[in-house]
Amino acid sequence: MRIGVLAVQGDFGKHRDMLLRLDIEALLVRTPQALAQCDGVIIPGGESTTLTTVMQKHGLWQPLQEFGRRKVIFGTCAGLIIVANEVPGHAHSTLDLIDITVARNAYGRQVDSFIDTVKLELQGAAHTMEGVFIRAPKIVACGNSVHILGHYRKDVVAAENEHILVCTFHPELTDDTALHRYFLHKVSRHLHD
Ligand code: GLN
Repeated sequence: MRIGVLAVQGDFGKHRDMLLRLDIEALLVRTPQALAQCDGVIIPGGESTTLTTVMQKHGLWQPLQEFGRRKVIFGTCAGLIIVANEVPGHAHSTLDLIDITVARNAYGRQVDSFIDTVKLELQGAAHTMEGVFIRAPKIVACGNSVHILGHYRKDVVAAENEHILVCTFHPELTDDTALHRYFLHKVSRHLHD
């Protein structure tokens, strides 16, 4: 299985490290040609406005949208904003791949970033992990096609639909590989469908 990490801006290096720790071949994706070689892709956290602009400049926007309709994408933090259907007040278009409504910077400014325990339910098993929230967005609404996978207090912090997995925090900044393993499992399920 070959996994791509979109590497145009943001925290792609740590995602690649995480994949390498899990013995997965990780490809840094900067071109549509590289994307075409991947079975699944991670869109990392960073700055969604910058990420969007650079993705469009590199001709990756349309290919990623098509990719997400057939294959699996894991969007973390800014990556979640990019794949969402609805981001009220956001000046940019989104890839429109998962029926969630997202509020950007919903916990406050950079100084209000924090680490706290999030509760996940992955493949029927409860799992708690450290959630690193950096100017994190909030999922404020989910459509019927969306399955909720985790909470921080009352907030939904992880969710999925058929092809798209999202979380509002940075799982690559902890030693906990649970969400990355869940993503790999989702990719491999799609490969064998
Ligand atoms: N605040 C950023 C945005 O709105 C997301 C932050 C992050 O990815 N850590 O794009």
